[in-house]
Amino acid sequence: MNAFSDLIRTLEDRGARRVALQFPEGLKRQSQACISALRNAGFEVLVSGDPCYGACDLALDTLAWADVLIHFGHAPVDEQPAVIFEPWKVDFDIAVLENALSLLRGPVTGLVTTVQHAHRIPAMEEFLKSRGITVRVAEGSRRTPLRGQVLGCSFTAAKETRAGEILFVGTGLFHPIGIALATGARVVALDPLAGTAQEVSGEALLRRRFAVIEKARGAGTAGIIVSSKSGQIRMDLARRLAALSPNAVIVTMREVDPAELLNLGFGCYVNTACPRLAYDDQVRFPVPVLSPQEFEILCGARRWEDYAIDEIV
Ligand code: SF4
Repeated sequence: MNAFSDLIRTLEDRGARRVALQFPEGLKRQSQACISALRNAGFEVLVSGDPCYGACDLALDTLAWADVLIHFGHAPVDEQPAVIFEPWKVDFDIAVLENALSLLRGPVTGLVTTVQHAHRIPAMEEFLKSRGITVRVAEGSRRTPLRGQVLGCSFTAAKETRAGEILFVGTGLFHPIGIALATGARVVALDPLAGTAQEVSGEALLRRRFAVIEKARGAGTAGIIVSSKSGQIRMDLARRLAALSPNAVIVTMREVDPAELLNLGFGCYVNTACPRLAYDDQVRFPVPVLSPQEFEILCGARRWEDYAIDEIV
């Protein structure tokens, strides 16, 4: 029995013979064990070598040569019958939640996490309850099928708790900042691997985004970026945004690359691809890259007071 025996059984049940594998960036180095296990079990294996950051970016091109694509590390964001989504669970000691307790004020605490820790939600709930905390976990959106799961582009499971305080368990600060902006709740972020806990606010991000909108005011032209990645295509939104300005043109791209943006020569861009690109990567871009809501503010179709973080629904 090896770590991939359930997967091998699933492939055999489907009658698959040729198998394509796709690993996100953080898991690519662990691909060799899987390749060996599947080859030893008699499958013909190919690996997608393109960059991958989410289930929104499935290597569907590999299906031209394979019976099935196995996507590791993410839950599905949409229906894809020829794709098997293989979770990559990351465990941690539940007692690490103790580190967040002094920051929680209640009276109700919403609990959310990312896909690799979602299997620990029941144990986390139990731990918090045992410490006298009233905890609430909610279902997410179509893009976040696991209970309590959030993505950088979908904070529904946080909003649906309707709690005034949210505990985010996971690494990095993008998710908790997004949760703070999407919910208006107090957000505590606990990194379960480092053991660090902190209160997180969206204020600094808002200040940076205000400055980016102001910088875009003299841009003259706007390229509305539409991604061609399977789970990021938002052409209807792009058309609606392009209609807000006579100087806006839709630009399709697979990878949103700073050098390409410079080459294309627009004065600013509006990002309808992965929302994190505009928020996380602005320093890499040669000109302002706005979110859809920020472009609405620029065009006078939305007030700054109604600022909202971009989510893909
Ligand atoms: S669109 Fe961005 S945040 Fe959403 S799943 Fe894809 S990579 Fe993650």
